[in-house]
Amino acid sequence: MVGGTALAGQRWLVTAGPTYERIDSVRFIGNYSSGKMGFALAEALAEAGADVELVTGPTSLNITRQRINVHRVESAREMYASATEVFPSCRGAILSAAVADYRPAETADHKLKKQGDEGMTLNLVQNPDILATLGGMKSDKQTLVGFALETDNELQNAKSKLKRKNLDYIVLNSLRDKGAGFGVDTNKVTIIGRDGSRKESTLLSKQEIARLIVNTVTH
Ligand code: C5P
Repeated sequence: MVGGTALAGQRWLVTAGPTYERIDSVRFIGNYSSGKMGFALAEALAEAGADVELVTGPTSLNITRQRINVHRVESAREMYASATEVFPSCRGAILSAAVADYRPAETADHKLKKQGDEGMTLNLVQNPDILATLGGMKSDKQTLVGFALETDNELQNAKSKLKRKNLDYIVLNSLRDKGAGFGVDTNKVTIIGRDGSRKESTLLSKQEIARLIVNTVTH
């Protein structure tokens, strides 16, 4: 088990929550991520003695524990800037944020008005992939952990994502189980290692899942 000082002297980066991609001054594209898994990961790392840089998208959650430095961001590009800046000084990173793949190509600085009876088209462009970027920056001494939420060919897709993004571990979220995933307080995961190792959890609280992940990836 990870004890109170096992990770003392180590700095870890965690990303959490959704990103909001601005359409105009009052609207955005977002998702239902609550940030609970990422906040639980930050707490579990700090509980084990690590210093944590928590980069989070918009969420109502707060941190009370010491040794967690919270960076609040809104968009994928802001999260990218913050994560790539702190990563070089970190022993490892766990990226659990639900980052929007696309953002509006243009953002209006006023509220867009409805026009005529027609629909409207939003042009979207791709956001940078933070996890893949950190995979490219990573040294041999750093551990990089990503999450995967797959609907079919779960294991195969997760494993190919692990290779493609140069990760050490990937945490596969189960979508098949009630009580796992977005918004809820529980989760069920499979932790897959670069060496092919596989650890499957039962349905546990996000706090327990976070401890299991931290325990696995810091050894
Ligand atoms: O490719 P996919 O979006 O399924 O990968 C999910 C993993 O990649 C998660 O760990 C997520 O935090 C991370 N990710 C990211 N930046 C993106 C998209 C995903 O860091 N733009």
